[in-house]
Amino acid sequence: MAQVNRATPEQVESALARRVVDLEGFLALISPAAAPFLEPLARQAQCLTRERFGRVVQLYAPLYVSNDCVNACVYCGFNRHNPIRRTTLSLDEAEAEARVLWEQGFRNLLIVSSENPAAVPVSYFEALARRLGSRFPSLSVEIYPLDEDGYRRLARAGVDGVTVFQETYDPNRYRQVHPAGRKADYSWRLATPERAARAGMRRVGLGALLGLGPWRLEAVGLALHALWLERRFWQTQVTISFPRLRPAPGGYTPPHPVSDRELVQLMCALRLLLPNVGLVLSTRESPELRDGLSQICVTHTSAGSRTEPGGYTRPGQADVQFRVEDRRSPGEVAARLLELGVEPVWKDWDAALHDTGP
Ligand code: SF4
Repeated sequence: MAQVNRATPEQVESALARRVVDLEGFLALISPAAAPFLEPLARQAQCLTRERFGRVVQLYAPLYVSNDCVNACVYCGFNRHNPIRRTTLSLDEAEAEARVLWEQGFRNLLIVSSENPAAVPVSYFEALARRLGSRFPSLSVEIYPLDEDGYRRLARAGVDGVTVFQETYDPNRYRQVHPAGRKADYSWRLATPERAARAGMRRVGLGALLGLGPWRLEAVGLALHALWLERRFWQTQVTISFPRLRPAPGGYTPPHPVSDRELVQLMCALRLLLPNVGLVLSTRESPELRDGLSQICVTHTSAGSRTEPGGYTRPGQADVQFRVEDRRSPGEVAARLLELGVEPVWKDWDAALHDTGP
């Protein structure tokens, strides 16, 4: 971190003079010295994003299936100690939720669950993926970390992406905020994207929960993790999400809040380091910020999200993980993107494109 804090305006200018930066340039771009250079940084990030991805943003929706959790992450509304209304959807109920999303236009679903393998075992996700596969060409999961065999089972059932946030890359901080349960194991979680990629997942998603630790420290962890995965698993698309901590049941106050300008600096700097990585921004953020960043560097975004199980068919029956900031409907988000000259893409993948066998 000393190198980041010592960076000079000259080093920032030198990094900006390159189209794509190495790790040293990245450290300059996330430094305090780079804060006044946000406009040229954003321009360069926009250029690279358009060159590599075009003027498109892919839309997805989260489908929460359970908020019943055995863990006690101090920042999370689903923490087992919070007295909230808990639900695990039956397969029929989850399918009904998916039907609503399909009717809204989504073809790319992210199945999300809290961590309780007894309530939602791997066989639950296999069965759900098999039910949804004919309607949704792209299914990802954001669930508790599995071993490689678990991910192979999901891949065979039709899941093609895994998202798992490290939450914080600082092992000491990690221990403080994950005091109990399987999630307390930092190394097991850190190696999860690697296990998913080995099992053949087409996409792996990383992220740090912004607000838990100093954002520049998290940025370095994220960058090193993504670089390593890209080099080791060149067939797998890496994406990075930028979840900022939001108000949630339990009332956790983030010790290191990240401002809008800092979030933009982080995302744009990562674009210059990792030009082919997908950058994901969810409905945790305001419509204005999401609209702005969709024109600069975002490649994937959610819309119309509910963060409680059953929220699309029976809103308000269970408690949410966190409150969303962008409450626009999927149609409104898509229409706004078009107004801004960005094409919203509902379907970006078809397994038939991948299946080259006889
Ligand atoms: S972050 Fe995940 S594992 Fe931790 S309490 Fe929340 S739902 Fe459970």
